[in-house]
Amino acid sequence: MSALLQVASVAKAFGGNKVLQDVNLKIGAGEIVGLLGPNGSGKSTLLNTITGFEAADHGHIVYEGQRIEKLPPHRIVRTGIARTFQLPSMPKKMSVIEVAMAAATRAHGVGATLLGTPGAREAERQARNKATALLDQLLLMPVRDLAASALSGGQKKLLGIVCALMAEPRMLMLDEPTAGVHPNLRRDIVNALQKLNAGGMTLVIVEHDMHFIREVCTRCVVLDRGHIIASCRPDELAANERVLQAYLGG
Ligand code: ADP
Ligand code: MG
Repeated sequence: MSALLQVASVAKAFGGNKVLQDVNLKIGAGEIVGLLGPNGSGKSTLLNTITGFEAADHGHIVYEGQRIEKLPPHRIVRTGIARTFQLPSMPKKMSVIEVAMAAATRAHGVGATLLGTPGAREAERQARNKATALLDQLLLMPVRDLAASALSGGQKKLLGIVCALMAEPRMLMLDEPTAGVHPNLRRDIVNALQKLNAGGMTLVIVEHDMHFIREVCTRCVVLDRGHIIASCRPDELAANERVLQAYLGG
C-alpha cells in the first residue's frame, strides 16, 4: 500500500501523561479507517497532532511525501487534510452560511488585504457558491440563514463537515461525527461520507458505534493508552484478544 499519510514513531505527552507512545500508522488513498479505542486512549490527540493543533514531541508525519509535523493547522489544511471536531463550537452571531463561507477564507488564506477589491468579491462569490452546494449536500439548506449557534448538536456536526469540506481536502478526519446525533441525521451523515469516499476522498473516523463502523469502515485501527494495539477489518475486531482486553479494562 502506498501511503497517503504516514505517522511514524509519534509520541505526545501532557506533563507526565504519555498520551501517544510510538504511534505508527499508514493510511492509503481511498481508505475509510475507523479510529477506535476506549475513552482517553488518545484518539482526539492523534487527530490533533496530525492536523497541527498539538505539536508531537517525537516522530514525524508525512502527507503525500511532505513532512507536516511542524506545520500550523492552516498550512496543513492547504496540503489537503481537513478535520472536524468532537464538540463543534459555533460563533454566536454568524449564520450557518456565513460560518461555512468563513471556513473558505481560512482554508484559502484570502486575507483582509483583499477586502473590498474585485478579487475579494470574486472570492466571496465562489465561497458562497461552494458553501451553498455543500449545505445542500449535507441537508442544511433549510437552516442556512439561522444562527449557527442555534443548530441542534447533530446539525452542528453536519456544519462542521461542511466547513471541513470548504477546504476541498483529499483526506478528511472526523472526530465522533455521529455521537449524540439523532438516528435520522446519522443516516444522512453515513450517506454523505460514503458519497465523499466514492468521489475519491480518504476518510479517518473516530467512532464508537459498531453499526456505523461495520457499515462504513474498510479498516479499523485501535488505540489503547496511547498505543496502537490493532489494525484489522471491522469483522475481525470481536475476535481480537487485545481489543477485547482494552475494552474490558484488562
Ligand atoms: P480520546 O479522544 O481517545 O477520548 P483524548 O486524546 O481526548 O482521548 O485524551 C487522551 C488523554 O490526554 C486524556 O487523559 C486527556 O485528559 C489528555 N489530554 C488531551 N488533551 C489534553 C490537553 N490539551 N492538555 C492536557 N491533557 C490532555
Ligand atoms: Mg476524543
